[in-house]
Amino acid sequence: MDTMAKKIRLTNKLIQETLIEAVGEDSLVIIEFLKNRKNISEFIIGEKTNIEIHQVRNILYRLHNQNLANYKRKKDSKKGYYISYWTFNKKRIKDLVIEIHREKLLRLQERLNKEEKNKGCFFLCSNACARLDFDQSSELSFRCPECGSLLQQQDNERTIEHLRQKIKELEIYS
Ligand SMILES: [Zn+2]
Repeated sequence: MDTMAKKIRLTNKLIQETLIEAVGEDSLVIIEFLKNRKNISEFIIGEKTNIEIHQVRNILYRLHNQNLANYKRKKDSKKGYYISYWTFNKKRIKDLVIEIHREKLLRLQERLNKEEKNKGCFFLCSNACARLDFDQSSELSFRCPECGSLLQQQDNERTIEHLRQKIKELEIYS
């Protein structure tokens, strides 16, 4: 296990944020229902959570895609068709939290690099339609592509500071 995995504290809030980001907020009800159960039929899941079957399947598909749930298919002898039976994969949560955390950190670092590379050289429309770097702005003769106003040079020191702060917060875990 690497250091990030050891340091990360799996609070309920962090787990919830991760699940929303990975599989969508509408999955939470199904996860809550499934998390301490095993081999539950897709129809029972729909019935107990009060969600329509096509929506249930859509959500289960997302969970499966992220390896958060597994299923077995069994032919129902009475109805004559296959039904899937689902089990939530609790162990996957920790890895998912770490994965999403890494992606977030990487995105912020990329943004910070871009801001630093263009320090003091961003251009902003006074009507807030656009924010462009120097190359983009000079191509447009420093006119907003949306409304035509003259673009204003922006000091991005605060944006840089804000990104650094966010990265620092996230790096506590890494
Ligand atoms: Zn504009």
